[in-house]
Amino acid sequence: MPRTCVIRNLTAVFTGYDTLLHPPFIDIAITGNRISAVGPDLNGSFDTIINGTGCVAIPGLVNTHHHFFQVLTRVIPRMQNAPLFPWLVNHYRIWEGLTQEAVYWSSLAAMGELLVTGCTTTADHHYLFPRNTAGDLLDIQFRAANDLGIRFLATRGSMSVGQSKGGLPPDQVVQDEDDILADCHRVIDRFHDPSPDSMQRIALAPCSPFSVSETLMRRTAQLARTTGVSLHTHLAETRDEEAYCLSTFGCRPVDLMKRLDWLGPDVWFAHCVHLNEAEIALFGKTGTGTAHCPSSNMRLGSGIAPVRELLDAGAPMGLAVDGSASNDSSDMLGEVRQALLLQRVSKGADAMTVNEALTIGSRGGAGILGFDQTGVIAPGNLADIAVFNLNSLDFVGVHDPIGGLVLCGDCHRAHHVVVNGRHIVKNGHLITISEQDIIDQTRTIASRLVTSASQRTGIAFMTPPRDSADQIPRYRTP
Ligand SMILES: [Zn+2]
Repeated sequence: MPRTCVIRNLTAVFTGYDTLLHPPFIDIAITGNRISAVGPDLNGSFDTIINGTGCVAIPGLVNTHHHFFQVLTRVIPRMQNAPLFPWLVNHYRIWEGLTQEAVYWSSLAAMGELLVTGCTTTADHHYLFPRNTAGDLLDIQFRAANDLGIRFLATRGSMSVGQSKGGLPPDQVVQDEDDILADCHRVIDRFHDPSPDSMQRIALAPCSPFSVSETLMRRTAQLARTTGVSLHTHLAETRDEEAYCLSTFGCRPVDLMKRLDWLGPDVWFAHCVHLNEAEIALFGKTGTGTAHCPSSNMRLGSGIAPVRELLDAGAPMGLAVDGSASNDSSDMLGEVRQALLLQRVSKGADAMTVNEALTIGSRGGAGILGFDQTGVIAPGNLADIAVFNLNSLDFVGVHDPIGGLVLCGDCHRAHHVVVNGRHIVKNGHLITISEQDIIDQTRTIASRLVTSASQRTGIAFMTPPRDSADQIPRYRTP
């Protein structure tokens, strides 16, 4: 007999489409890994009872773009005020010291933070495979996801054009293209599970137009389409990238993707800040998805993505925290709020509603990652649910509990989180792994990584640059 669970006495449930209010309370019943009923006073005997008094439930949030290893390099003084290209060039010199142990603990820290802020499915874009680090780094990420109990899609990232060939990354972190494709094959065979209730999937993800060749982009797309996995990369994030593409490829970033056959419902891009009207329409027409990263775009001063316009064009849209060195946070509910506020900054108070922000954070992202039976709370769907407690000072006086969840609150910690029918976060804390162990281990590794990078490179990472000319080595657009 499958195990049964009920979340009792919720104040409100956002289903992924609209808000259910059945005063005074509403319940959600779970059988095995699926939702079996949603409604008031559900009868039956249950193996587990989760007390939802004073709480609201939403579909587990879906993070569509991240770089877990960046948890180790948050708010480094030297790069705190730098835009993307010098920010990257400086960080590469630290990341080239990444070890297997660093990948494991940073993955636990990033996914742990996502879980306790209401995220139940996450993607990660791992593109850093230092030459002197042995081991299969994606395998380590899957081990961490499995240890925590989160639904995980790893994108096999890649960088093949180093500085000696006109790219942005140092040569010691780029790989041979045949080696990259062989490992893409291997991880698809080993980990990709396309079934509807899959807990692990693969997508292929060359890092960006300024770190891989056109040949690798084409060969990656061929491999993805013959094996049935999706494609992902960074695109149109900054004006510097646009200038690089115009200079190197003679066209804008989206035109380059069109030329490489990299548009369609099996493709999603991170950022998409700098799109023109024709490109927005093309995304809608081809079903090309976007991982919107509002905090990262604000932190790096990249700009405001045309999310309203993309939604109106019918383009798929998900939310993402992006790496924790450009966001400094993996707070998934916080990202829902940032998405709403950032659209309103440039387009007015009706540019995005609470329901729209929550929808792109849940159902929108689930569709982009192909987890079609998550992102909606309804009988028959997978039981991926986040429960937040509104019984605190920061929610007093709220007249719309779901609106309040997004617009109010000084803490985004979920009270309970269920993934695939399994209770993973209880009373605000992970129950699968000790949070204190993750904190202690990750902190030690982060400190060691930056100290050894300073000694190896002679770069003073812990000191802010004296002026913009001191952002060495500064990348110059060719
Ligand atoms: Zn990114």
